[in-house]
Amino acid sequence: MAEAIERIKCLIIGSGPAGYTAAIYAARADLKPVVYTGMEPGGQLTTTTEVDNFPGYPKGVEGPAMMTDLQKQAERFGTDVRFGMVTAVEFSKEVGGIHKVTVDDSIQLEAETVIISTGATAKYLGLPSEQRLRGGGVSACAVCDGFFYKDQTVALVGGGDTAAEEATYLANICEKVIMLVRSGEMRASKAMQHRVTSTKNIDLRYHTEIEEVLGEQVVEGVRLINNQTKETVVEEITGLFIAIGHTPNTEVFKGQIDMDADGYILTKGKTTHTNIPGVFASGDVQDTVYRQAVTAAGTGCMAALDAERYLQSIED
Ligand code: NDP
Repeated sequence: MAEAIERIKCLIIGSGPAGYTAAIYAARADLKPVVYTGMEPGGQLTTTTEVDNFPGYPKGVEGPAMMTDLQKQAERFGTDVRFGMVTAVEFSKEVGGIHKVTVDDSIQLEAETVIISTGATAKYLGLPSEQRLRGGGVSACAVCDGFFYKDQTVALVGGGDTAAEEATYLANICEKVIMLVRSGEMRASKAMQHRVTSTKNIDLRYHTEIEEVLGEQVVEGVRLINNQTKETVVEEITGLFIAIGHTPNTEVFKGQIDMDADGYILTKGKTTHTNIPGVFASGDVQDTVYRQAVTAAGTGCMAALDAERYLQSIED
């Protein structure tokens, strides 16, 4: 006889601040949540060092330690945390329908509600010297790490809205920001471009790319190349910020749920409802603007409340 397929009331995919906060709320509402962690349990915060901007930690907290705390808090109320990767989904379009989920290409599950909190992954340049110095002065989040470079000179790569926003943010903290744009123009909105060009301590360089990040343990400089003249120059910096975009982790949901052109899951109004009844999205997977641990946690809470109300509405 075939083994019975496990039925889960609230399945949470992803284990960053959004997923675990959803789990804390869902567990306390007796939805018996199951969290599948993905391949990077704890999410993006486990690759950062100090988190100084999450409320409630006056002395700051190490990213991995915070994620362990969040996991413990979710487990305290009975969340079942499992290591595994969701590899396929088949969402029902019916209200009250059952969603089919495959984990690790082998485990079949059925879920009454699904909370997608799979996050987004920051893009990097891919240079070996850049990868080696991640956590040693190379960062993909100015709001998270900018403060460590107070009154210092940093460089930032990118010409989109994120880069423009992060350059102006860093310019308030740092002595100087060398902004590197690979083409002859910025992709950022005109208003953001104006903010960049009118900020005195942003040294904007077009047609410029990084050839190598210099430094053994920590960033000490960058060798830059002008991709038109091929001229190179070394600049001393202590921090390097990469702001060339994010990729939402939504590959597995393609064709199953509404997304924007970049693959971010679309949610309705100020809720976490997606176009699929019983499927909710929280955290960076649906957020192109704020992308903070605390905002991810906030939407995780919202998703659990939305899931609880949805289940209630179909029981009534
Ligand atoms: P974008 O994709 O808009 O911009 C990416 C930037 O990085 C481009 O300048 C691109 O250059 C550059 N880039 C990409 N790869 C490399 C590379 N290998 N080397 C050097 N440069 C590279 O990403 P954003 O994160 O800026 O924005 C994503 C979306 O979010 C956009 O729609 C944006 O408008 C939105 N957003 C809105 C905000 C707001 O409204 N407040 C704030 C932040 C983002 P190139 O142009 O040459 O390809």
